[in-house]
Amino acid sequence: MNLKELEKKYLGFSGQRSIAQVKNLLAEANNVPIPGNGPDAKKLIYIRRQLTRVLLALINSRQQAIIVVIEEDNFDFLEDDKSLGKFSDKGKPAPGSKQDKYWERQGYTLVFDPESTTYRKGPKLPANLKFNSEQSIIEYFHLAGVEYGNWLSQNDRINYLAGAAMGLFDMMQILGFNAQQVGMYELITLAFGARGSGSAVAHFERDSFAINITRYDRPPAVNKRPKDFDRKNYLKSLGGVGALVHEYGHALDCYAGRFIEKDKSYYASGGRSLRATPDKKLLKQKSLHGVLERIIAKMLWDSSGKNKSAFHERLLKIPVGQDYYLRRNELFARAFEVYFQFKMKKAGRYNYFIHEKKYDGGVYLTEKEAQRILPDMDEFIRMIKPKIKKVSSK
Ligand SMILES: [Zn+2]
Repeated sequence: MNLKELEKKYLGFSGQRSIAQVKNLLAEANNVPIPGNGPDAKKLIYIRRQLTRVLLALINSRQQAIIVVIEEDNFDFLEDDKSLGKFSDKGKPAPGSKQDKYWERQGYTLVFDPESTTYRKGPKLPANLKFNSEQSIIEYFHLAGVEYGNWLSQNDRINYLAGAAMGLFDMMQILGFNAQQVGMYELITLAFGARGSGSAVAHFERDSFAINITRYDRPPAVNKRPKDFDRKNYLKSLGGVGALVHEYGHALDCYAGRFIEKDKSYYASGGRSLRATPDKKLLKQKSLHGVLERIIAKMLWDSSGKNKSAFHERLLKIPVGQDYYLRRNELFARAFEVYFQFKMKKAGRYNYFIHEKKYDGGVYLTEKEAQRILPDMDEFIRMIKPKIKKVSSK
């Protein structure tokens, strides 16, 4: 099979699939030789990675998973550092509008409801932070902006806005940031549902400091929906919900590497580098580079520093796409997630919108493994906090 045939098969692969079906397609994808270094190579690697992720999800949950296949013309949208492309804003969410009533009939629900404790446990939002107003959220957290992709309904917008408002509020309190630091003084843009159909991931753009949360897959037409159809399940289980903390981890790493201690990769962690051997000089440094070096070294090596950690061994066993999981900035972002979750738990708080692992497959540190890096993560936050200031230009 060649790439063209694989692509066709892959694009026709959305919907419920079993472990065996995904395994077969992944095996086929693995047999297609990587064509050089250009966009075709990226395409193939992307397909393999997506299939691997889905397979891990399936193996982990022992369930059938829904595969979200991205559209062909979105293939240029594979890598995290690329531009988000076109956005169109069709006006502000207006609760109670005619359009809203339409969505109500279609299955409108406020899933991420600040009054409910189903998806969040934590203090009430302050009165001047309005969960259904992007202006309020932009002003409160000093964001550069909020953007929407083409396919977002008013219903979706309100849910994503509400989730983001509660999420950023929790991040602010847990990290001990002030509101300006959360938005990095009008540097961070939140983008929801870029380009309609979602690849199953969110991503962070180092050039624009945009955090993109993809939208859930489009539900079946109203007359084709099962009796027990519930939009809530789509909204909460598919797309980028649960990824905000991870992406914010990238933003902090990038802020450190671009504006505080300049790194040629733009990330103080080393970015996409796969370097696993610790840099002895860096390990001793009292800098952001130093503390990130210590975090990643502790993740990958045991306490003697001589043997690979169990976590490292697990990553090396990932059949395809292990490079992605071993990238230094990805290691840090996943460590940040675990750290954040730990802090939330300690504070008796919970927030599904910003942090929920949908699949794992061993790519995260276990709670026990994470113990070793907690003090260093605290140090990283303590060090970076006073250094997040207004930057003159991006
Ligand atoms: Zn990432």
